[in-house]
Amino acid sequence: MKVGFVGLGAMGGSMARNLASAGSLTGIYNRTTATARQFAAESGVPAFTDLASLAGACDAVVLCVSADADVLAVADGLSGGLSSGKLVVDCSTVSAETAREAARRLAPTGAAFLDCPVSGGTEGARDGTLAIMAGGDEAAFERARPLLEILGRHVHRLGPVGAGQATKATNQIMVAGINQAVSEALAFAAAQGLPLPRVIETLRNGAAASWFLTHRGPNMVAGRYPLGFKVELHCKDLEICRAMAAHNNVQLPIVEMTLHHYQRLLAETHGDEDISSLYRLKSALFEAGDRRD
Ligand code: NAP
Repeated sequence: MKVGFVGLGAMGGSMARNLASAGSLTGIYNRTTATARQFAAESGVPAFTDLASLAGACDAVVLCVSADADVLAVADGLSGGLSSGKLVVDCSTVSAETAREAARRLAPTGAAFLDCPVSGGTEGARDGTLAIMAGGDEAAFERARPLLEILGRHVHRLGPVGAGQATKATNQIMVAGINQAVSEALAFAAAQGLPLPRVIETLRNGAAASWFLTHRGPNMVAGRYPLGFKVELHCKDLEICRAMAAHNNVQLPIVEMTLHHYQRLLAETHGDEDISSLYRLKSALFEAGDRRD
């Protein structure tokens, strides 16, 4: 299968590199052409300067771009080069409704659309160990499976188009809650005068064990927040969760509280930091002796 890749960002750059290492990458496209040129120079994979030409040269195109409007713009751009039997695999995090809209827009070309958002952070993208949650036609998913298994270790189809994004939204609510719990508890531990690296080493093997505690806890207590996953991207995801819950006439407390906190981080110009910078607000509580928030 000839595979193309669109969006060589923090996630997509590593995902495309893994496809190239597996000998499965035919072409790349990046909106900022300098990034594409550099990737092409390093990997030997040709850079395309328009999306339709990339789609025309490939059997499947994987994209990993920022937000809903970007996915739809890329889908529109690809459509001129798509035809029956081709696949478009979107690994961005967007709403389930955007996935369905992209599938509707591509339907006249005959190409199949799969929403395949990922979880596992930049480390998972680099190591090819992402969890991938797919939505779409089962036969199309089985055709995409070999390439998805290069990108991730846990690849599952959850239902029709949109089901992958709905699962990802579920994941993002959990990440918000885990970030709240880990950052608040470690700020508390600091206030108790505990030896924080040893606390993390001890607790990460107990009932509170989590990927987040293991991988982000040490950065939090060192006051460093390297990416990771940007606050502004998690904000985007939680806005998606908020809108999806609103369809059920529900406001979710973890989503609302975390959006409130992230708005403060954005206002303090920390939007480009990893979401573990929530620790800033939690440790500030102890500095201020603030009992309310
Ligand atoms: P990023 O580093 O900001 O990269 C975004 C990529 O999308 C860039 O290559 C950008 O091109 C491209 N792009 C954006 N808008 C575009 C458009 N309208 N047309 C064409 N290309 C466009 O973001 P990221 O961290 O890789 O995240 C990408 C997606 O994966 C997001 O939906 C995010 O929520 C999701 N995700 C991220 C993580 C994480 O830990 N970072 C984990 C799981 C899922 P330029 O180079 O021109 O800007």
